[in-house]
Formats: sequence, C-alpha cells, structure tokens
Amino acid sequence: MKAIASLEVGQTPEVLERLSKEAIPAEIRTVTQESGLELSEIMVEDSFYERGCEVVETWYSQQLAAAKKRSGVYCRKCGSRNYDRTWVERVGYTYKCKVCGYDFAC
Ligand SMILES: [Zn+2]
Repeated sequence: MKAIASLEVGQTPEVLERLSKEAIPAEIRTVTQESGLELSEIMVEDSFYERGCEVVETWYSQQLAAAKKRSGVYCRKCGSRNYDRTWVERVGYTYKCKVCGYDFAC
C-alpha cells in the first residue's frame, strides 16, 4: 500500500468518491501529526498508485480554482478590493478601481 494523499479529515469523502468512480480501491489511515493535527492518509495498492495520484491532483487543482473564484473581485492593476461596480447592458458588470482608477471587467 502507498499513500497518495494526506488530507484534512473533512476532505476525504470527496476524494474517496472520485477514486471509487475510477474503480480504484482505497483505504483511509488516520495519522496524528506531532502538532496534534489529525490527517487522513489515503492508501491504495501499489498498482493503483499512479492513477490514484492523478485523481488526487485533479481534485486538488479544482479545489484551488474554486478557492480563487471565491476570493472574488479585485483590481487587475493594483490588486485593490476597493472599487465601484456598474452594470452595463450587454457587457455585464464593469468595475472601476477607487485607488488607481483602472477600469476592468470580471
Ligand atoms: Zn487599482
């Protein structure tokens, strides 16, 4: 058995579901780190290791993309979150930065 991921306990069901869709049998092993934080290691048979890693990587990059999306709107020029939002017909929302005056759409 090899570990393909160490995850926070709440993150495992989603990854396990993806693994089962790919017909990759997996087991969970809970490890307690020195800091006292509990992590779930996802273990697969050696022969499933590479495919398992791919599933985890795909899941992880989707998590990152979703987190980025949630972090919301910011000025593309100076990074400020201080902006005015205007609805423009057929364009959607446009934004004007209150700090540097840059206009941007999202
Ligand atoms: Zn700006």
